[in-house]
Amino acid sequence: MTVSKLNLNRSNLIRPEIQTINAYHVPDSEGMIKLDAMENPYAMPEEIMDEWLVLIKQAEINRYPDPSASKLSVVLKQYTGVPFGNSMILGNGSDELIQIMAMAVTQPGRKILAPEPGFVMYNMISTFTGLDYIGVPLKDDFALDMPAMLEAIQTHQPVLIFLAYPNNPTGNLFLVSEIEQILNVAEGLVVVDEAYHPFACVSFMPRLGEFDNLLVMRTVSKMGLAGLRLGLLAGPDKWISEFDKIRLPYNINSLTQVTAEFALTHAQVFEQQAKIIRKQRAWLFDELTKFAQFQVFPSRANFILLRVLQGDASQIFECLKRHGILIKNSHSAGGVLTQCLRITVGLPEENKALIATLKGCISST
Ligand code: PMP
Repeated sequence: MTVSKLNLNRSNLIRPEIQTINAYHVPDSEGMIKLDAMENPYAMPEEIMDEWLVLIKQAEINRYPDPSASKLSVVLKQYTGVPFGNSMILGNGSDELIQIMAMAVTQPGRKILAPEPGFVMYNMISTFTGLDYIGVPLKDDFALDMPAMLEAIQTHQPVLIFLAYPNNPTGNLFLVSEIEQILNVAEGLVVVDEAYHPFACVSFMPRLGEFDNLLVMRTVSKMGLAGLRLGLLAGPDKWISEFDKIRLPYNINSLTQVTAEFALTHAQVFEQQAKIIRKQRAWLFDELTKFAQFQVFPSRANFILLRVLQGDASQIFECLKRHGILIKNSHSAGGVLTQCLRITVGLPEENKALIATLKGCISST
């Protein structure tokens, strides 16, 4: 029997592309006003807390969870309006769903495509799963560069295309007609990632089934349940049932199942919070545009991206941090994000504190 020589040694056990990247970094935010991660700033309201705690007490955590989260799935499908005839799979956050899709389609030479700048996990998960990543730059106004997108799709024939709707970190919605065009020309699957749906209020969900290659992804993270880690992917059963083979059993833990189901029976509480956040987004946008130093980009999400035209974004970021306010410094990503900062919409008093502190930081830099 001949044994092929693998050239295995302790220094090459880990793939080189993994050795060269950095782990996803989450900055320490203890005690700070946290405006960096697009969370909903509102805690679960007191008036429903007791009811929730009763359910949590009853959860049988000595048992494995329901492997298909069947009760939660029924509620979620109805709440998110998955059209009849389509299927749904749940993930430990939508991050896990991106990973599941990538694992299902990976083969040497195959590619994932997404506009850039975009959500970093599309790129990172491509690397983890051995897929090549093609980032197609957005135009200066952050709209899709359609000639470039169509050419890249033609050239690279991506197996998966991700379109965040609205896009992170730019906050804008791509044109419906352009997404339709991509759906029509792409041979691969097109995932419309609606993570920020509570703040955008537009969706491709009702259009599932109209395109054979359309999938719609959502998360409960931004609506106020980021700690649960729960995302969903909906689309034609022929794709979802294949992805489901890769999903690890019990990926949605018991406490998440119970809590998400409970939260959705009180959906109006979270919808009311999203409404306040949308109003606060408008307030924050107006206040930020009063700074002559900033170019502020309109947003349909729960964050606002701005470009520092005079001054230095990193200095402003550090100054805010020294004053106990954490935002996201997007400057290091380079390209169109050079001198850009991303600010999550917080509580009214947090947003006021941000504006007041910014004024101080600007005058001192
Ligand atoms: N998609 C987009 C566009 C995002 O910005 C994020 C998180 N920032 C996610 C997906 C991941 O969400 P989840 O918390 O469900 O993993």
